[in-house]
Amino acid sequence: MKTTFICPVCGYSKLDTAPLVYKTNNKTHYSYTNGAPTFTICSCCGTEFGYDDDECSWEDLRAKWIKKGAIWQHKRNEPKKWDFRKQLLNIAKIKKEVDKEHTKTKEHSIKIERLLEDYYKKIITIDQLEESLLAYGINKTIPKELQSLCLEIITEIDGDLTDQCTNEKKKHPIKRLGKEELISFQKKLKKY
Ligand SMILES: [Zn+2]
Repeated sequence: MKTTFICPVCGYSKLDTAPLVYKTNNKTHYSYTNGAPTFTICSCCGTEFGYDDDECSWEDLRAKWIKKGAIWQHKRNEPKKWDFRKQLLNIAKIKKEVDKEHTKTKEHSIKIERLLEDYYKKIITIDQLEESLLAYGINKTIPKELQSLCLEIITEIDGDLTDQCTNEKKKHPIKRLGKEELISFQKKLKKY
């Protein structure tokens, strides 16, 4: 039987993929808060994951969808007797996974923030910071927000290294971070 996924916005249970995807040992894993966007589109609420939820939370998208009348995006897929309230109950089934991932994100943020502070206070060296940041930045199990933040800080400091950073085998040189860069990174982290 084909695996399907629940839409975290409207509860539709037949999404082909979850909103996010990552790979380990050539295995594909779908996730709700971990990995790169799949750009899958929900045929019920019409959310395009990776685009619509880029700056809008699933809760807000859900509220908007309901406010507009909980209308099917692809009408022809709409079941005859359909109740959006019933469908929304599906979201409870993925809540645990979503919450677990959010906790992980928070833990990572706190750890990275501590590393940056340690570096700033000269408790750890730039090499140790580089090693740790890259461990976070290219580790596939790290939540996508932090991945992009790490890539961002590396990219900002040392030109466009994004492609290299996704390749674990390469060595990535990082220049010494300036005070302002550290502060701005910490500020960004605080948002998570
Ligand atoms: Zn949906």
